[in-house]
Amino acid sequence: MAPQTFRPERRHLLRHGLALGLSGTLLLPPVQRWAQAADDFIRGPAVPDQPLQRLSPRVAMVFAADGFPTPENRGMMANIIFVLTSVGVVVLDTGASVQIGEMAIRRLRTLTDKPVVAVVNSHYHGDHFLGNDAFVQAFGPALPIHAHPAARAQIQGMAGNAWRSLMERWTNGATMGTQVVPPDRDAGHGTTLRFGDTTLKFHHHGRAHTEADLCVEVLEDGVVYVGDVAMNGRIANMDDGSYLGTLKTFDTLERDVPGALWVPGHGHASRTLLAEQRLLFSGIYRNCEAAVKAGEDEAQARRRVLADPTVAAHAGRTQGWDGNIGKYISLAYLEAEKAAF
Ligand SMILES: [Zn+2]
Repeated sequence: MAPQTFRPERRHLLRHGLALGLSGTLLLPPVQRWAQAADDFIRGPAVPDQPLQRLSPRVAMVFAADGFPTPENRGMMANIIFVLTSVGVVVLDTGASVQIGEMAIRRLRTLTDKPVVAVVNSHYHGDHFLGNDAFVQAFGPALPIHAHPAARAQIQGMAGNAWRSLMERWTNGATMGTQVVPPDRDAGHGTTLRFGDTTLKFHHHGRAHTEADLCVEVLEDGVVYVGDVAMNGRIANMDDGSYLGTLKTFDTLERDVPGALWVPGHGHASRTLLAEQRLLFSGIYRNCEAAVKAGEDEAQARRRVLADPTVAAHAGRTQGWDGNIGKYISLAYLEAEKAAF
């Protein structure tokens, strides 16, 4: 781990209008000062501007090069998508901190002066909703934030604060100052929202990356933001997921939106993304299934998976492979055991 590379900012202190002495020290009793410092004043640094990619006439993306949070990237690990409509901007996922959300708004301002009129959170993992804070601060508390009902419940409950704490730890405090702002509108499979000249259609096919994933189709452009149902060049966190559910979701999306440009939460957009990821997911799962049927243990399943050329082809181009493939196979083996029971 690299040493801490930033100093806490005092911006909040000034914003809250608290009294400063001539020497710059606070005119507050020490205990109160300490409590406020811990709660309020300590704020991670700004996140440097990240590259913006135009994906279609209506869709642009702030691209995250890294797949995992570190002190150096300050939590910038997930893509943020802008849908530019005639009545304003819809933001699909908001990043892992208030600072990342603020950076995304700076990048958006190079594309349009129109306001953000809605936000969607694709699921309840913190790299996709912790930036909501910045958008609500900039565009007002009435800004609608849409999510699957189960994602809303998770973010309002334990997952919201748990993810905020995890992100602070992984980034060595760079995301400090972020408040959890949960989504306030339900969306589900078939929900359609109209924004002027643009139609957003939501897809959900049961548990895939989580039980609460929403994929968002920008109908007029043939673009589908799939969140973390598929990633490009990064291994997924499958702790809340299902291999069979993921494969079913891929099949159904390809049937319902043929030829789409698939935009993942992590990595580059591509028209072949689901086809490629299907090979990886089915390569892992089908080998575990075969091992279970043959009465083999998990170690033998692991050997089968790693010997499969369709799986091995992903190893060199997938961030987090060595650290996660073992757990990934364990989860597939468990799911295959459950399915065989
Ligand atoms: Zn993610």
